[in-house]
Amino acid sequence: MTTQLLERPATITVPDTEAGRFIVPATGGSSTVPTYRVGTPDIQCRYPVIVGEDQVIGRAYRWHRDWLVLTTEGERNLRRPPKGTPGTDMAAAHLAEEYAAGRIGTVPLDQVLAEAPTPLCGPVPLLHPRMPVNDRNTEGAQIAFAGLAAHHWRAVLTGFPGSDNHWYLNCELCDWEGPKFWSHLRGRNGEPPSARRHKGGCIGEDKVRRLIPAYH
Ligand SMILES: [Zn+2]
Repeated sequence: MTTQLLERPATITVPDTEAGRFIVPATGGSSTVPTYRVGTPDIQCRYPVIVGEDQVIGRAYRWHRDWLVLTTEGERNLRRPPKGTPGTDMAAAHLAEEYAAGRIGTVPLDQVLAEAPTPLCGPVPLLHPRMPVNDRNTEGAQIAFAGLAAHHWRAVLTGFPGSDNHWYLNCELCDWEGPKFWSHLRGRNGEPPSARRHKGGCIGEDKVRRLIPAYH
């Protein structure tokens, strides 16, 4: 087990495969884009893009189909990534170019982490702050929260962000937490969702099936 882990590339041993990847820089024009990496997302599902040891040049996050970046210059919507390109890659490449051109500054990772919100104790609001309050969203949120309870998931900070959006969840069967899509957790065509639950496979599919009535 330990040997297997050691033999893997270091970039895959972090909890989230979207996190911690080192990206080889490309040189374009006169400015050299620095080496950068995408760090572990925070509980607002924001992925820090880091240069050097620990300098954050911005944070990337998804809102429905769009990807946005937050930098020292504020928030900017980069819209949809090209087909087949992960949003984190598009956003990170954009940030690296902006940084190389001197248009944005850096913030130490420690400071970014210190300023991140902490998990709520107790229930989170029904809807994500960016979700308009209307009957459709309220009903969707109620269905989603019932589904989370039935499948032993807990929302950590925000309410329902929509079906196809990152939602930072805690697995109550183990200690895993990270961004998930409700559309992946609700099952399809009357079938329950994957018993693998999340990266790492949780406590094992057999145990998961035994614990959750939806699989019976
Ligand atoms: Zn788990």
